[in-house]
Amino acid sequence: MSKKLQGLRDNFSLLGEKNKVLVANRGEIPIRIFRSAHELSMRTVAIYSHEDRLATHRLKADEAYVIGNKGEFTPVGAYLAIDEIIKIAKEHQVDFIHPGYGFLSENSEFAQKVAESGITWIGPPSSVIDAVGDKVSARNLAAKANVPVVPGTPGPIESVEEALEFVKEYGYPVIIKAAFGGGGRGMRVVREGDDVADAFQRATSEAKTAFGNGTCFVERFLNKPKHIEVQLLADNYGNVVHLFERDCSVQRRHQKVVEVAPAKTLPIDVRNAILTDAVKLAKEAGYRNAGTAEFLVDDQNRHYFIEINPRIQVEHTITEEITGIDVVAAQIQIAAGASLPQLGLLQDKITTRGFAIQCRITTEDPAKNFQPDTGRLEVYRSSGGNGVRLDGGNAYAGAIISPHYDSMLVKCTCSGSTYEIVRRKMIRSLIEFRIRGVKTNIPFLLTLLTHPVFISGDYWTTYIDDTPQLFQ
Ligand code: ADP
Repeated sequence: MSKKLQGLRDNFSLLGEKNKVLVANRGEIPIRIFRSAHELSMRTVAIYSHEDRLATHRLKADEAYVIGNKGEFTPVGAYLAIDEIIKIAKEHQVDFIHPGYGFLSENSEFAQKVAESGITWIGPPSSVIDAVGDKVSARNLAAKANVPVVPGTPGPIESVEEALEFVKEYGYPVIIKAAFGGGGRGMRVVREGDDVADAFQRATSEAKTAFGNGTCFVERFLNKPKHIEVQLLADNYGNVVHLFERDCSVQRRHQKVVEVAPAKTLPIDVRNAILTDAVKLAKEAGYRNAGTAEFLVDDQNRHYFIEINPRIQVEHTITEEITGIDVVAAQIQIAAGASLPQLGLLQDKITTRGFAIQCRITTEDPAKNFQPDTGRLEVYRSSGGNGVRLDGGNAYAGAIISPHYDSMLVKCTCSGSTYEIVRRKMIRSLIEFRIRGVKTNIPFLLTLLTHPVFISGDYWTTYIDDTPQLFQ
């Protein structure tokens, strides 16, 4: 990076007097965001539900405010209370709101209301969230940008007959997807011999309950694909860069468990085509701020775009480790009006070094079908040392793990020069943890990391579900 660019990057004056950021979230991600904000000399504001009054994220901020009166909101509802959150922000002269991931992060109404209240939204504007936020609009966007998508129905389907017509043309298996689904939920795989009508009814009604919108469409279900995603950054002036890819194929029931960057076994030409397509999509969408374009790669190495997530993702840490770029700081600075060149983020200057692997350590009991476990953490000693990064929320001896929220306890990210070195580092790191009082998935992660397929780096999205030895 040139001296001039470095100077601009070190200059926080872009934030000027406006430097107070509220994070509308809980758990590890507010803490992660507060860290970057503090490094940018910003003041931080946490909000918390009544149930979270002892949660760590409120202690890591300069100011913290409870959402509503006791009993006014449910534990989750508090973090979805748009008007109440904006009211708190206004009362305390907040300049920026960062939504984190989950909760309101993809809610265009929230983004819109934040902007209308004169507060800067750290994320893409509501119109972009709408354009990419559901899977059907994302497919339309890809068609416009000339980027391949998985063969599927051209739009939402209204009846089981339309699903059957698709099956007639493309054959089994297919996947019925909720357009507004997320987090690996709202999908139903239909194989030869399954009852399509029943699957369609269930998918629609589940989508309505879970996402408030029952719209579904049908795609071919690819055999053993890889999930490859591209971290994107876009400024407010039309510049877009990618921060290379992540391989998130190691999933359990469509939910990511371990993520790796860069993808170890992806042929270079396929990788380059995916990176190019990701940037094309962002440009077509008029994308702004950080986002992730997700692709599937089939057993013939053909890639297909599946969706754009218009927010920071859980696994952004591995991209940070291989590129040395603080994605959250970039999000804040872009929202404050910085251009990518001002931040030194020019495509040909962005490179990767070595590998990084992230494991999501959860309070789930592998012996009980990964049921969330709750209670008091009697003992908590974390790992550390060379190449180990931990992003945690309420992880300390004495912490109460409540049943109200997501079961992720801490994210362990290891980095180093080769995949094998990092794999071994992760094993060492997981063994070093001492967690008692609540069950965790660490024993399962260790089995996974020592399995031949994981060692090879050549995994596919149903690898865990297809491998019963991992559960013995
Ligand atoms: P979500 O928004 O819930 O994360 P995605 O559309 O990103 O849903 O898909 C999540 C995962 O589901 C993918 O990584 C992959 O494992 C599986 N999946 C989705 N679509 C297909 C498909 N057409 N064929 C095979 N697997 C799929």
